[in-house]
Amino acid sequence: MNKEKRQAIFERLQAANPNPTTELNYRTPFELLLAVILSAQATDKGVNKATARLFPVANTPEAIFVLGEVGLKAYIKTIGLFNSKAKNIIQTCRMLIDIHDSEVPNERLALEALPGVGRKTANVVLNTAFGQPTMAVDTHIFRVGNRTRLAPGKTPLEVEKKLLRWTPKAFLQDAHHWLILHGRYTCVARKPRCGSCVIEDLCEFKEKTS
Ligand code: SF4
Repeated sequence: MNKEKRQAIFERLQAANPNPTTELNYRTPFELLLAVILSAQATDKGVNKATARLFPVANTPEAIFVLGEVGLKAYIKTIGLFNSKAKNIIQTCRMLIDIHDSEVPNERLALEALPGVGRKTANVVLNTAFGQPTMAVDTHIFRVGNRTRLAPGKTPLEVEKKLLRWTPKAFLQDAHHWLILHGRYTCVARKPRCGSCVIEDLCEFKEKTS
């Protein structure tokens, strides 16, 4: 895919959605961190339902730590993998309190050292809470990057690196939101909705559905 097409793709995605953001509900970096940890292999909708009950009761590392694993599970038991997520979250709260003055660090290595926080979660927090132009490659971006040929790659990291290198600078900050939403609602896994896709003529997928 050439430079002109990349530019045109992001111009179209931007025109269709000028101010994209995450669909997870949050008000602070800590709430976002928790929501992203909870969202692994779960829907944003399901996470929002749980955090709508949890955050009014506890939305700081101290308050969640006081709830403890059992108390936390009562709020998140509708979410997949809630046992391991509760364990990780309590350990993460402990580290935030002990090492980071109860603040979410705005630095990759410190974030990835927290239990339950991998590269993708760190990228979402760095981008969405701290305004850094990172690329959080989830299953949707991985698919869209490969199908469109915006950033073909065999692993999420390969796709991430190519997107970071090839995405025009002006679009870097919001690119991952546009690509996630595009994958979630248009370039869906089973049968992409190419007929209603705003980048259909620019996409290089060989098996378009239209
Ligand atoms: S044209 Fe089809 S395959 Fe290409 S991005 Fe759009 S929905 Fe996905």
